Amino acid sequence: MKVKVIEEKCIGCGVCVNTCPEVFEMNDDNKAIILDDADFDSCDLDEAIDNCPTDAIEEE
Ligand code: SF4
Repeated sequence: MKVKVIEEKCIGCGVCVNTCPEVFEMNDDNKAIILDDADFDSCDLDEAIDNCPTDAIEEE
């Protein structure tokens, strides 16, 4: 599975970065982005999707 972040929905809470630090990072605008070398197998992406408070993470 791969995921993407819907930037307009992201409120910058950082939960996804804590859940999957090998996939997400915060950019200078305090929005979550996908790392260029994201390791999508490194964590539970379903957990990241489920825990995002604004449903900003979607399966790609
Ligand atoms: S969990 Fe959702 S709202 Fe929070 S930083 Fe990640 S994408 Fe943004």
